[in-house]
Amino acid sequence: MKAAVVVGYNDIQYMDIANPEVNAGEVKVAVSYCGICGSDIPRVLKGTCHSFPQVLGHEFSGVVTEVADGVASIQPGDHVVGVPLVPCHQCEDCKKGHYSLCKHYSFVGSRQQGAMAEYVVLPVNNVYKIDKRIPMHLAALFEPSTVALHGIQINNFHPTPDDHVVVIGAGTIALFAIQWCKILGAKHITVVIRNKSREGIVRKYGAHDVVSSLDNDYVETAMTITKGKGFTYVFDAAGTNDTIKTSFRLAANKAKVCLIGTPTKPVAFSVKEWELINRKEMLLTASWMSYSAPWPGEEWRMTAECMADGRLILDEDMIHTYYSLNQVKDAFKEYEVNTSAVKGRIMLEVEA
Ligand SMILES: [Zn+2]
Ligand SMILES: [Zn+2]
Repeated sequence: MKAAVVVGYNDIQYMDIANPEVNAGEVKVAVSYCGICGSDIPRVLKGTCHSFPQVLGHEFSGVVTEVADGVASIQPGDHVVGVPLVPCHQCEDCKKGHYSLCKHYSFVGSRQQGAMAEYVVLPVNNVYKIDKRIPMHLAALFEPSTVALHGIQINNFHPTPDDHVVVIGAGTIALFAIQWCKILGAKHITVVIRNKSREGIVRKYGAHDVVSSLDNDYVETAMTITKGKGFTYVFDAAGTNDTIKTSFRLAANKAKVCLIGTPTKPVAFSVKEWELINRKEMLLTASWMSYSAPWPGEEWRMTAECMADGRLILDEDMIHTYYSLNQVKDAFKEYEVNTSAVKGRIMLEVEA
């Protein structure tokens, strides 16, 4: 079968590899679409793959073609999305339902074969059946939605009509975080974007107010929206030096702040910047991946429900562009040329 394989530093090749076989407890999926995650970019461009050769791809949709004997919950023909974390299900963290914190884990598309391939074989617990009404190219956005919702749940999100919520960022995770805040009842959602051309898009997904970090006084402008009190719930979905600091500045006293984005460069604070955490007595939380008990978690169940009934808006504004799998080199070139010019996911079309 054909696959996109990272064979070395900045070297991803479209090539033939062995078609995987189904063992006990596993299912085989013909991949339809696979998104390129921010975490895949350094795996190709910076050579940070766990090992070589590696087939990447953990955000995907597909159709089940084969199931092992005894597998009853999934049938050939089912439409599924991938649940990429393969935790041990045995350790203390797993037993508490903190699967993302398992230290004895595998991960589809970084430690075992991923979905940038015609077929992927997974444990039956690592596929999630979806409604056939959800178009496959949009279903590949399922996992990013669960990541956004996990951060919101970690932040113990129970907004009252008076609470002000701010989401920082306009990438895929941010667009889902905005939508989840709205679905979960937030009445005042402000979004901090950099590129002003994203304003219409974030408003469509649920932002009531939008400020641009390119404006000098954007923090003051955002604070005015809250009558100077600050935001009671803060979500940083970008994870840069600037956005983490902005999170602390925008937080109200006793705010709940969740850091969803993960920095790729060192982050430094002045004493005054750090002291904001103390002075405001913030509740600072952070999230990693998207799992909770019962496996794979409420994040997955709610995403499936809200994608099927249309409460989650899924449309082309979440997708930058499409490439077929054999153009995978060109897809990653886009990030090499200018990562910030890539708005939303790049989708690899595997078997449409
Ligand atoms: Zn990802
Ligand atoms: Zn474990």
